[in-house]
Amino acid sequence: MPSTTTASIRCAIIACMTLGILLLMPPANGQSIALTFDDGPNMADHIGLSAADRNAAILRQLAAARLKSILFVTRTDADPTRNELIRQWGASGHQVGNHTATHPNFEGTSLAAFEQELLACDQAIRDVPGFTRRFRFPYLKEGDTAEKRDGFLQFLDSNSYQTGPVSVDASDWYYSQRLSTRLKDHPNADTQPYRDAYLRHIYGRAEYYDGLSRTVLGRSVAHVLLLHHNLINALFLQDMIQMFKDKGWTLIDSDVAFKDPVYAMRPDILPAGESILWALAKKKGVPGLRYPAEDDVYEKPILDRLHL
Ligand SMILES: [Zn+2]
Repeated sequence: MPSTTTASIRCAIIACMTLGILLLMPPANGQSIALTFDDGPNMADHIGLSAADRNAAILRQLAAARLKSILFVTRTDADPTRNELIRQWGASGHQVGNHTATHPNFEGTSLAAFEQELLACDQAIRDVPGFTRRFRFPYLKEGDTAEKRDGFLQFLDSNSYQTGPVSVDASDWYYSQRLSTRLKDHPNADTQPYRDAYLRHIYGRAEYYDGLSRTVLGRSVAHVLLLHHNLINALFLQDMIQMFKDKGWTLIDSDVAFKDPVYAMRPDILPAGESILWALAKKKGVPGLRYPAEDDVYEKPILDRLHL
């Protein structure tokens, strides 16, 4: 018979192993989310922070959270300062993806011209550290005809490109715009109310799309949140990360999230695009979907009411 001491040690080992397994597993029904960034750095925008300071602030906050992300850029021009800011993403272990040369809306662009947009951007960024063949559609517009939609997916495939879909779409760009407008006229304005409204907005959209995920797939996907390289994220990214953690969400790297099989799904809808969950819900006929999916028409009254 084992001695009491041996039994205690065995119990302790079993407890440790169980704890270890539990720590490796995502919490039951827990939500996870990755942060991804589009556009920028916008060198012409100096309100609040310079482009270099915005870049450094976003990278610093990602590093503090030990998160790896992806920046989808439009073709970098000859501006060496902007190229350096983009290079810093790769040098910090993040990925750099393709977001076309000039950010056209596919719905107003021919398939051939849109293909050239990808190639021009590819040419300009393929030697940047962190470059990865992943493409995000500007405005999440993936084609207004079956020919364009399917033709471009074939083109991506033949160029060894993957798509960079999102599950959670939001209006960070609009909140940042409103904050910039205020700071332009009142450089010392209190930014905290913008922070609070912004965090509420982001969490509201995350919850909404997570609900859609459960409705259309019966599970919570590994979410991909679309953010932009802008002032409001430079100022409050850490607060957003903490908010998600406080709500029980797990922050994950973008390349981990993209492995969720939902991002390989191609719902047959036209026009194609928007959040993949929104597109799946539309295909399934889920009632009450708002369109345009994420537009300032929904956010303007909220910010007007708060005098922000
Ligand atoms: Zn964009």
